Amino acid sequence: MSAKKDSELQFKAVSKGKKTLRVGCEDYQLVFGTELKLNGVECHGVCDSGAKTIYLDVNSDQRQATLVHELVHAAAAEFGLRHHEDWCPKLEELIAEMVAKVVVANYRLVARKP
Ligand SMILES: [Zn+2]
Repeated sequence: MSAKKDSELQFKAVSKGKKTLRVGCEDYQLVFGTELKLNGVECHGVCDSGAKTIYLDVNSDQRQATLVHELVHAAAAEFGLRHHEDWCPKLEELIAEMVAKVVVANYRLVARKP
């Protein structure tokens, strides 16, 4: 999920990490927690591009896919995709899901050094 201005994020932090993720020219903080809800809806992860923070539910069995999904939202914000005339939130959501599934399904090859 992608947090928009005025979104209400509920979250119990487990660790406010020093982990950062490089997205374009920005460093995003990776924060782990539980009971993550955006506007009252339970979710596995949230990208707040305004705060440059990605929140992940530590108890989710879909953490890898969720992290990739949220990184796509961060990239959409940082690489200007959201300013494209054909951009819409539903399309961004579909792209995030598609990339997450493909990357996780091929993770060993993606992560392997040559
Ligand atoms: Zn999403």
